[in-house]
Amino acid sequence: MLKDVLEQIERRNRFLLTSHARPDGDAVGSALACCQILRSMGKDADVVLRDGVPRIYQPLPFADQVVHAQRVNGNYEAAIILECDSMQRTRLDGLENRFLINIDHHLSGRPFADVNWIDPDAVATAEMVFRLARAVKAEISPEIATCLYTALLTDTGSFMFAGTNERTFTLARELVRAGADPAQCARRVYFAHSTAKMRLLGAALSNLHREGPLAWFWVTQEQMELCDAKEEDCEGLVNYGLSIQDVEVAAFLREIPDGRFRVSLRSKGALNVAAVAESFGGGGHECASGCSLDGPLSAAVARILAKLQIGQSFH
Ligand code: 5GP
Repeated sequence: MLKDVLEQIERRNRFLLTSHARPDGDAVGSALACCQILRSMGKDADVVLRDGVPRIYQPLPFADQVVHAQRVNGNYEAAIILECDSMQRTRLDGLENRFLINIDHHLSGRPFADVNWIDPDAVATAEMVFRLARAVKAEISPEIATCLYTALLTDTGSFMFAGTNERTFTLARELVRAGADPAQCARRVYFAHSTAKMRLLGAALSNLHREGPLAWFWVTQEQMELCDAKEEDCEGLVNYGLSIQDVEVAAFLREIPDGRFRVSLRSKGALNVAAVAESFGGGGHECASGCSLDGPLSAAVARILAKLQIGQSFH
């Protein structure tokens, strides 16, 4: 509960903030905003991310202060884990035996920490961080507003995903009033792709398959290398599958160096893809989830399609 989080924050002074590995906009934006809120309360706070800040989020205020590390050192009095449904997904060493505070909005969120505030009704963790700021009467500076607006924009799929509601727009309005520039935030995220990402999109779409309401496609390690693409260049590619008329669910598979596949699932709402991802040990939201599967590619595709087809109450 928020009340418990506030109580613990008030009692302590030195905080570490982190989120999941391969951070998305909500992970980076919420952690950066929360860090600034804590500092405005006179606390010490650092953000540490296992994979650092992806290129498109590097223009966010204070993103240059994020520590890119595999291990947490330092005598922090608590670690605040945002937008992350387990300690393992941070992929950070050195969190064990620390006092942990978990702030998350995932449907698959688990109370793994000492204090847990999990609200799957929040469209983004940014919404929860905003509530926290209000509760401690922190001023929402233009920098905090920019981080939270970018988090909200990206986690709602530009206000397009199911779950986007009146509250979402009220929050967006508050953030714009506090100094977030919507056009600039959108430009930095959506009009700042690397050339490699565009080439990778071409390669991925050349593998596009469609059967009724399902679309699936993939990229192999070889294609990634040929395009000179990085892992973060895969973010958002799955949405191109979902953008097809009458497709209800899209799956995008990315081969990782160990030969396994990272799977991104997206739904327009008729199928709960969090349940599908969870059945493979992953998680996420009803409309956006992910998991990992063993290769080879044909086996990974067959397993995911079998689950999606069984779940096809929308067929
Ligand atoms: P993406 O497809 O963008 O990687 O992830 C979509 C959503 O599913 C995000 O909210 C992300 O946090 C969640 N997600 C992706 N992969 C995993 C996973 O392996 N485990 C869990 N628990 N959640 C995941």
